[in-house]
Amino acid sequence: MIDEQQLRKIVESVVASVATASGGGLPKATSGAIAPSTPTSSKHAAPSLAAGIRGNEGVFVRMEDAINASKRAFEEFSHFGIRERERLIGILRRVTLDYAEEFSRMACEETGMGNVRDKILKNRNCAKNSPGTEDLVSRSWSGERGVCLEEFAPFGIIGSITPATHPVPTMLNNAIIMLAGGNTVVFNPHPGAKRVTAHALQTYHRAIVAGGFPENLITCVENPSIETANILFNHPDVKLLSITGGPGVVKAAMATNKKVIAAGPGNPPVLVDETANIEKAAEDIIKGASFDNNLLCIAEKEVFVVESVFDRFMMAMEKAGAVKIDDIHMNLLVEKAFIKSEKGGHVLNRELVGKSAEYLGDLVKVNVPEGTRIIFGETTKDSLFVQEEQMMPVIPIVRVRNFDEGLQRCLEAEHDYHHTAIIHSKDMDRITKFARVMNTTIVVANGYSTQGDGPDDGEAYLAFTIATPTGEGVTSPRNFCRIRRLAIAESLRFV
Ligand code: NAD
Repeated sequence: MIDEQQLRKIVESVVASVATASGGGLPKATSGAIAPSTPTSSKHAAPSLAAGIRGNEGVFVRMEDAINASKRAFEEFSHFGIRERERLIGILRRVTLDYAEEFSRMACEETGMGNVRDKILKNRNCAKNSPGTEDLVSRSWSGERGVCLEEFAPFGIIGSITPATHPVPTMLNNAIIMLAGGNTVVFNPHPGAKRVTAHALQTYHRAIVAGGFPENLITCVENPSIETANILFNHPDVKLLSITGGPGVVKAAMATNKKVIAAGPGNPPVLVDETANIEKAAEDIIKGASFDNNLLCIAEKEVFVVESVFDRFMMAMEKAGAVKIDDIHMNLLVEKAFIKSEKGGHVLNRELVGKSAEYLGDLVKVNVPEGTRIIFGETTKDSLFVQEEQMMPVIPIVRVRNFDEGLQRCLEAEHDYHHTAIIHSKDMDRITKFARVMNTTIVVANGYSTQGDGPDDGEAYLAFTIATPTGEGVTSPRNFCRIRRLAIAESLRFV
C-alpha cells in the first residue's frame, strides 16, 4: 500500500522531470487555439540551456540550427493559406495583449531604457495595428489577349536584426508582417535585450504550436552577437535581411550580397514657425519626445523655432510641464551624454539612452520634479544634442530668423537619413515646401511624431521597421514578398 506522503513524493518527482524535459520556462500549453491566456509575470524565464540543436521553443544555441529549423518550418508553412496565416497573426496579437505588461517590465529591467507605462502602450499598439494579410491585395487585368494576375509570394527565410530600444514590439511587428507573407523569420536580437526577446519568442512559439501551426516559424539564438549576425547575413538559405538599428549594423548588412530592407537611424527635427498654434506645438512636442523617454527613432529630437515666437514657445513648454534648464546645465548634460573617443571625436554614452528626465536632472544637479516628462533648454545649432541622435528626454531648442533658415537647419540636422521630420505651421505652402525639401520617409504636420506611424494616434498603419536607406518606407507585409505574375493567353475572356 502506498500512503499519501509517498504518493505526493511520486507526483512531485514526475512533475519535476516533466518540467526539466520541457526546458523550464513557462508551463507548456496543452490545448486550445490560443494557449497562454494567463500571463505569469513572476516568471521571467530566460531561455534554458537546453536550447540545443532541436531548440527550445524556438530558441537555439547555434545560429545554423535556428536557420535549419526555420527552413523546415517554411516548407511546412507553405501548406497554410492566407486565412490560416491571418488566424496565426490573431494568436500573436492576443498573446501580446495578454503579456504586454510582463514583456514591458522585463524589457525595462534588462535594457535599463524607457519606462514600463509607455512600453505597455507600445506593445499594445503594435499588437493591434501591425498590418496583416489584408495588405496583400493582388492585381489582375484582362484584355483582348488574355488575363494577367499578380500575387504576393514569400521570399522564404528572413533574417531579422532587432534593436535594444524596442525589442519585443520590433520582433512582434516583424513576425506579423513577415508571416503574413508566408515567410519564416530568424531573429538575431540585440545582445542587451536577449533575455526578454527569447522569453517573448518562447511565449509566442508555444501559442503558435498550440494553435496547430508548425514549430520554429519564428526562431532566435540564445546568445546573439555580431558573429551570429554574420552567420545570418551570409547563410545561403536566408533570402532576405531586415535590419532595424543604428548606422553600424545597417552598413554591415548592406555590404552583404543579399537583398536588405534596412531601417536605419534618424534625428527628427521639428520646425515651429510664427503661424503655428504655439501652445499646441509645445504640448505635441512634449508628448512625442517624451514617449518611452525618447527612444523612438521617429520621436522629436531637436526643435527650431522662429525668433518672433521663440519666447512664447519657451513659456508654453514650461506651462505644458517641461522643465527648462540654462545653458550651463545643458552643456553639462551634453558632456555627460557624449563621451570623448580616442580618435578625437565623441560617442553617445549608451548608459544614458532612454533614462528618465528626473534621472538626467539629478546627474547635473538640477531639480526635476517627479513625473516630469521632458527637460529642455536653448542651445546653438551646433550642439551635439542637436546634431546627434541622443534618444533622451532632453530637447534642445534653437532660435532661427525665419521659416527658410529653420528649414535649412532642419535639413542639416536630419543628415540625409531620410527618416522623419515634423512641422508646426498654419501655412499650407510652407508645409508643402517643408515636406518636399526634407524628403524624409515620414513628415508630420501639426501633430506629434507617433501620429505618423500608427492608427492609435494617427491615420496610418504601424511599423517598427521604417525602411529609410533602402526606401520601402513604413514597412508592411507586401515589402517582404516577391511579386509573381501569371499570364493566361487568350483564355478566361468573355469577349
Ligand atoms: P544598434 O545599432 O546598437 O543595434 C541594432 C542591432 O544591430 C543589434 O541587434 C546589434 O547587436 C546589431 N549590430 C550592431 N552592429 C552590428 C554589426 N556591425 N554587425 C552585425 N550586427 C550588428 O541599435 P540600438 O541601439 O539597438 O537601436 C537604436 C537605433 O536603431 C537608433 O539609431 C534608432 O534610430 C534605430 N532604429 C531605427 C528604426 C527604424 O525603423 N528606422 C526603428 C528602431 C530603431
